[in-house]
Amino acid sequence: EVKKQGKNGHQFYTPELEDQLITNIELETDLRKAIERNELVVYYQPQFHAENNRMIGVEALVRWNHPTKGMLSPGLFIPIAEETGMIFEIGTWVLREACRQMKLWHEHGGPLIPVSVNLSSQQFHQSNLVAYIKNILEETGLEPKYLELEITESMMMDPAVSISILQELNKIGIRISLDDFGTGYSSLSYLKKFPIHKLKIDRSFITDISISNSDKAIVATIISMAQNLKLDVIAEGIETKDQLDVLTKNDCKEIQGYYFSKPLSAEEVEKSFFEPSRIKGL
Ligand code: C2E
Ligand code: MG
Ligand code: MG
Ligand code: MG
Repeated sequence: EVKKQGKNGHQFYTPELEDQLITNIELETDLRKAIERNELVVYYQPQFHAENNRMIGVEALVRWNHPTKGMLSPGLFIPIAEETGMIFEIGTWVLREACRQMKLWHEHGGPLIPVSVNLSSQQFHQSNLVAYIKNILEETGLEPKYLELEITESMMMDPAVSISILQELNKIGIRISLDDFGTGYSSLSYLKKFPIHKLKIDRSFITDISISNSDKAIVATIISMAQNLKLDVIAEGIETKDQLDVLTKNDCKEIQGYYFSKPLSAEEVEKSFFEPSRIKGL
């Protein structure tokens, strides 16, 4: 964000914001070459079942191995990709790479678990979305039931449009998860109409869950609502045993967070399949 809002609504610039602008322009130039130079990397964060500690899925999270700046997190370059339209190319690349990798793991005797891929709003509203996802699945040979797409409430501002896109995605047999749940503005009355499979409770409700009664109440409410709507529910950002205990007491069985595992390189995931003791809790 290069602009700051002034008191009376005027925009003004500061030296730090100018630096930020220069950095963003440099990153934008570099990002254009990142795909062809093979600098993008997909990491995978395992998701677990709290009762038996089994790995139940992995979330694909893109990183950029920048030639001089090192490994950059998606928060630094996904917004630039979205502003410049590069998100289509990057998003397609991530989807194909995640499906290719998951198919390979399945073939090599890894667990038959799904991969979740994050979608940007622009991708979700892309007119050929369903066709190109079908294409990627055919190309890579991954069965649709092993692909889950993560979308957010903020993408569903027009419920009628969203429902028809979701129905199309449902028809090809992939799963849909509502990421960062609780931070958007979606009305609960629409939630029951959206053909989705899973709610992903945002990390911001988990951070203080063992000390904050209001966060505990919010999370308990989301979990029981999900159960009533027959949706799966997963909590993200679990870092401590205390947080895990509160969640399991409230019947949240699916867990993702540093407490179990950080996002891992493909090589590290592969090792965890064959040397499970490398991951906490296994
Ligand atoms: P997200 O989809 O909500 O992903 C979860 C983020 O939380 C990841 O950050 C993950 O590393 C981090 N995380 C997981 N467990 C913990 C924990 O216990 N503690 C803390 N502090 N953090 C945890 P990451 O990888 O930096 O990704 C940030 C966001 O970037 C993602 O949020 C997602 O919205 C976006 N993103 C990542 N990959 C892609 C992609 O391929 N396409 C698009 N469109 N967006 C992506
Ligand atoms: Mg996500
Ligand atoms: Mg999230
Ligand atoms: Mg997110």
